[in-house]
Amino acid sequence: MRKAEDIVENGLCLGCGLCEAVSKGKIRMTLARNGFYKPSGIETGQWDDVINKVCPGINVLNKNQAKHLSIWGNVLQVSNAWAVDAGLRRGASSGGVTSSLAIYLLETHQVDGILHVGVQEGSHLYNKLYVSRSREDIMRLCGSRYAPANVFGNIMHVLDTFSSETFAFIGKPCDIAALKNFIAVYPQYEGRIKFFLAIFCAGMPSYNATEKAIGTFEKDVPPLALRYRGDGWPGYFTVTYSDGSSCRMTYNESWGKILGHEVGFRCKICADGIGLLADIASGDAWNTKDGYPDFTETDGKNFCFIRTTNGLRLFEKAEKAGYIATEKLNIAEVKDMQRPQYIRRQIVGWRIAAVQILTHGMLNFQGIGFYRLALKANWWHGFKNACGTAKRLFRLK
Ligand SMILES: Cc1cc2nc3c(=O)[nH]c(=O)nc-3n(C[C@H](O)[C@H](O)[C@H](O)COP(=O)(O)OP(=O)(O)OC[C@H]3O[C@@H](n4cnc5c(N)ncnc54)[C@H](O)[C@@H]3O)c2cc1C
Ligand code: SF4
Ligand code: SF4
Repeated sequence: MRKAEDIVENGLCLGCGLCEAVSKGKIRMTLARNGFYKPSGIETGQWDDVINKVCPGINVLNKNQAKHLSIWGNVLQVSNAWAVDAGLRRGASSGGVTSSLAIYLLETHQVDGILHVGVQEGSHLYNKLYVSRSREDIMRLCGSRYAPANVFGNIMHVLDTFSSETFAFIGKPCDIAALKNFIAVYPQYEGRIKFFLAIFCAGMPSYNATEKAIGTFEKDVPPLALRYRGDGWPGYFTVTYSDGSSCRMTYNESWGKILGHEVGFRCKICADGIGLLADIASGDAWNTKDGYPDFTETDGKNFCFIRTTNGLRLFEKAEKAGYIATEKLNIAEVKDMQRPQYIRRQIVGWRIAAVQILTHGMLNFQGIGFYRLALKANWWHGFKNACGTAKRLFRLK
């Protein structure tokens, strides 16, 4: 059995907070110097068995397979979509579909609350899990936070406190893997999460990366608020200061030049940034120019992979009820919209193989099709990726 310390030492911890939850707070999530959360107080080994089963850093189990596993996984339907509410469409990260589906679920009383991440009150930087119960809550927390969050440290408390309630969960693909692993080990929570909505995710940058981006503005007043994007599409990385001033940079400058270069090791070997375990997974339906995404400001638009019949029912009903508008999308177009995801899906099996060899098989990734894809990729390119991953892993130790 793997020790929780091994997960951390091998760079496989995502700082999700489940260690804190399952140990009833005996293990605490702390913010490490590298700007990521990590569990502290794991020396006893008392929780190793359960952490081994729930940890999304080492376990991603896709039981949600349709007939085939293409590069994009199990897809029942693919569509472009956006929020009909123009304010939400503008304020959200992409087209506001994720928030619109959440609002639809609340306003039609299909769930009692939405579990999702947003910025902590009184902070411009730190994120935490919220239970949203109204359109206003959802709109306040919409948008992407390109930074860590202790998503699950409090999850048992939330589910036990509101013990008669059901929820929808919004999160990164690894958050969904975490919650599903957790429910498999604690069946008393089975049926409490009725919908899983994923946001596409290319990697989680550290808080230090956000500080670095803010630092480029060279202001000597404290930041009050930070929006990574949104208020347009993609919108600007915008910091508002206590003297009423604000500074901003484009999405290409923030994600493309700073944040995207500072994601953790585990994200580099992520085989599921595309929400394979979700009912619906949504990303940016970027317009493309010469085969690459074009970040010219325009009205926001998501593309959505509807992966389950539960998701399909939700999507169709939300459209019928006037919460989202949709248009047809040919799945072949997603390759250009999401080129980094496409390349990572093709090659990641080589990186995973390197980690498996060096950690004596710590990763338990099932049903996500990466080895098959890796064999179809260019082997020389794959081999170079495996060597690069091995080097990075050695440097961590
Ligand atoms: C770390 C990160 C990486 C991303 N990588 C990609 C990518 O590779 N490709 C792509 O197309 N898009 C990426 N996005 C953006 C996001 O997937 C899209 O914007 C998605 O289309 C959702 O858009 P929306 O308008 O429907 O979301 P909204 O309606 O604005 O809702 C966004 C939801 O995401 C939740 N959320 C925000 N930040 C986090 C977080 N850090 N952890 C968990 N939940 C969070 C919020 O609670 C909110 O409910 C990334 C976002 C993040 C946070
Ligand atoms: S359960 Fe979460 S916090 Fe604990 S080791 Fe795994 S990823 Fe890290
Ligand atoms: S890239 Fe993968 S592992 Fe990293 S935060 Fe995103 S979903 Fe999680």
